Amino acid sequence: MASKKDKKNSVKSLFAEFPNMYKESSKDAIADCMDYAEDYKAFLNISKTEREFVKNTIEAASEKGFVDINSKDKLSYGDKVYASIKGKGLCLAVIGKEPVANGINILGAHIDSPRLDLKPNPIYEDKETCYFKTHYYGGIKKYQWTTIPLAIHGCVFTKDGKQVDLCVGENEDDPIFYITDLLPHLGNEQMRKNANEFISGEDLNVVIGGMPLADDDSKELYKANILKYLNDNYGLVEKDFVSAEIEIVPQMKARDVGFDRAFIAAYGHDDKVCAYPAITALFEQEKPKKTCVCLLTDKEEIGSYANSGAQSVLYENFMMELLAKTENGAFDLLKYRKAIANSNMLSADVSNAYDPKYSSVSDANNSAYMSKGIKLEKYVGSRGKSGTNEATGDFVAEITRIFAENSIPWQTGELGKVDAGGGGTISAYMAKHGMNVIDCGVPVWSMHAPYEVISKMDLYYTFLAYKSFIENI
Ligand code: MN
Ligand code: MN
Repeated sequence: MASKKDKKNSVKSLFAEFPNMYKESSKDAIADCMDYAEDYKAFLNISKTEREFVKNTIEAASEKGFVDINSKDKLSYGDKVYASIKGKGLCLAVIGKEPVANGINILGAHIDSPRLDLKPNPIYEDKETCYFKTHYYGGIKKYQWTTIPLAIHGCVFTKDGKQVDLCVGENEDDPIFYITDLLPHLGNEQMRKNANEFISGEDLNVVIGGMPLADDDSKELYKANILKYLNDNYGLVEKDFVSAEIEIVPQMKARDVGFDRAFIAAYGHDDKVCAYPAITALFEQEKPKKTCVCLLTDKEEIGSYANSGAQSVLYENFMMELLAKTENGAFDLLKYRKAIANSNMLSADVSNAYDPKYSSVSDANNSAYMSKGIKLEKYVGSRGKSGTNEATGDFVAEITRIFAENSIPWQTGELGKVDAGGGGTISAYMAKHGMNVIDCGVPVWSMHAPYEVISKMDLYYTFLAYKSFIENI
């Protein structure tokens, strides 16, 4: 007969529990987690834009033996290849033992983050101050971008076909850039407006200078001074900004948060905090059973459009090329479609973490929490699940089984209460090709703010989750 204690334990096992992993993990696991977080912070600090993330990933991949897929006519077991998607997205693969036709294991994340882009004709002078006009990119609370240190990252394509890279604000002795706000003494009227209106999109003007060009008869001496600086240092003329890709991003570096350093604050966790675990999980693969692929996409924050967004066929072309080049160049569309239908993908993206300060927007039983491991999100979307990919139940069960077998802590949750809001990811665009896809990634506090917060535990276990997925599914 079962004792009272056994009965109590067996009833306990009926409940879903999602423990805090700082409480649950061994000292060694916490030490590994802390080390992994250091590498992540270092990578993030040099990869604030999608172009920088692509460049740095190609560099790291090349050290691991990856080569450009265009340099190979045939692919075989153990080969490692990548393809740049217009320099703003990236595909990487390690060829598996089984034929590609059996299906591939995919990790997909996006590497663009909310920011301020420059308008095509951005430089203007007003009352002896020089500014950049911007157009914000992605969903932001505009007031959060005032009175913080900003850096300028990007590139300009000059008329003689040269790409000129810019990065100003990151070095200690660099200047930073700045968007002013009104002093509280004069803010009465402003403070009566709602938060959506008190800083408008047209108010996000970045201070870039305040000295006149000496000994010149130009009308706009302050603008002339900046134009001359840009010409002297980068060879630019004003019209070059039309083709430029200049992003204004927070200057802050990734920093630990809290006396115990449990968390990391940084710009662009969304979605580099999933992209980094995805690439490092792929880098651990030498001779995988199935072909493992990592897709890093652009433009997710504005709908995954353009030739570098997840809706672009360029990502599909890469997977077609994997099939063709592992089959001596033969390509059969139906075979490709069936290969994709046999494939499995984790759509690696962040989601909101339950914030006790803003508990009213979340259902406490259906929310992800800091430090409880990777968040599995069966569906996203908004207003009655609209626009979501919904993972099939059998696929979710398969994922949780793999996580259980590999001791991966996971949790579940929705993006807020029903009708509180919602969001989308790249999963729906991938699922339409027929593969199994589920959204999963790291919970974030203050998502889309210039400085977002994640837990090191969630980062680390997301890496282990991605690794166990591509190795075991
Ligand atoms: Mn995201
Ligand atoms: Mn986002």
